[in-house]
Amino acid sequence: MSRTIAAIATPLGEGSIGVIRISGDEAITVADKVFKSVSGKKLCELKGYSALYGNIVENGKILDDAVALVFKNPQSYTGEDVVEISVHGGRLMLKAVLRAVLNNGAFAAESGEFTKRAFLNGKLDLTKAESIMGLISAESDAELRLSRAAHIGKVSEKIDKIEADLVSADASIAAYSDYPDEDIEGLDYDSFLSMLTNAKTQLEEMLKNYDSGRVLREGIDTVIVGKPNVGKSTLMNMLSGADRSIVTEVAGTTRDVIEDTVTVGDIKLRLADTAGIHQTDDKVESIGIEKAKNRIDLAELVLAVFDCTTPLDNNDLELIESIKNKNAIIIINKTDLENKIDMSVFGGFNTLEISAKQGTGYEELSKKIAEISGTANLNPDSAVLIGERQRDCAVRALDAVVEAINSLVGGLTMDAVGICVDDAIAALFELTGKRVTNAVTDEIFKKFCVGK
Ligand code: GDP
Repeated sequence: MSRTIAAIATPLGEGSIGVIRISGDEAITVADKVFKSVSGKKLCELKGYSALYGNIVENGKILDDAVALVFKNPQSYTGEDVVEISVHGGRLMLKAVLRAVLNNGAFAAESGEFTKRAFLNGKLDLTKAESIMGLISAESDAELRLSRAAHIGKVSEKIDKIEADLVSADASIAAYSDYPDEDIEGLDYDSFLSMLTNAKTQLEEMLKNYDSGRVLREGIDTVIVGKPNVGKSTLMNMLSGADRSIVTEVAGTTRDVIEDTVTVGDIKLRLADTAGIHQTDDKVESIGIEKAKNRIDLAELVLAVFDCTTPLDNNDLELIESIKNKNAIIIINKTDLENKIDMSVFGGFNTLEISAKQGTGYEELSKKIAEISGTANLNPDSAVLIGERQRDCAVRALDAVVEAINSLVGGLTMDAVGICVDDAIAALFELTGKRVTNAVTDEIFKKFCVGK
């Protein structure tokens, strides 16, 4: 018997409605103690997926009018009996109603406890559970689509397929070990090797897509560099143009770090330390080349801006030298005017001609960033691993498959190959949660908020 838990499931703000969720064997009994329907009917008399209108009453006092919706196990989010009570969505109101529910037999839910119960009751696997945070917190359309794809089971389907191949290979190996003198279907060298190679290719592809997916979800640490007056602020303004930007300011603790986030195409650029860009030219000069170099070292992407109306000087050349080994895009700005730059010094770099002032070159820039970050070829509706945990499981599975291939090619015994295949399967089981320790599960759901 699981203890009955309750939490506020909607944000604590000002909303037209807010929801208290109760789950567990006593969920309906607890709800019946605080919810009194207008018709006099009790929630325990309802079938699943039915609702009643009434009042939340505590100690004879009506707190609010409410709608209570009943879900009967196993047809609920958690797989247990669930009641969702909708009341007016004010912070104090929701807290008062939750208190009434807790005073009548429910326990306060822990972080992620509803979803953890859903997982433990087989309602969703870990890849679907882990997609929920993304569904809630997505900041771009692509990020939302990635999370949605995982939520409807795209990642599990793909992993299950690789896993099924490995499991059947494992079964053949076991049969072979039991009857080494028999011909066993599917266990000739070639088909076995091709099966393992196929698993390897699929895992490698998933890991490659993971990196691109991470860029879509988390964005890229970017820095805009260039001499004063080349047009960095104007470029910033172009990037944060009304309909395609989110601009946030984060006040630093030890110094004035201003961080802006702009969305270019599908990709969030986290523009760290843009203080220099926002301040006056004098200040920019005082920041100095050392500081700029520091910013370049830390960035995943450098947008280096040059003014095409004046030939390059030593400062420009020094900047070019300092970004030689970085993911960088050379932005030649002010191309609405005559270009006086000797473009040959940019050989080997990604270059782009724009006019930040006139707003030209945005599409090209967005395309270039997508190409550089590998997101250009990623379909956000496909199976993309989410989070370091899933990546780590996939890496372990891939390592084990590679070792199985090496053992096979190196002429080791089938038992030795089988051990590697077992390791690969175990890593995939952990990825989807088919076989996972309590410690791992606890760790995953701890990251959720209360109410999820
Ligand atoms: P920053 O010091 O690098 O941030 O440069 P600003 O963005 O403040 O721009 C310096 C000057 O160049 C301003 O007068 C801008 O209007 C001008 N400017 C910026 N971009 C362009 C452009 O694409 N074309 C032209 N003609 N002028 C530009």
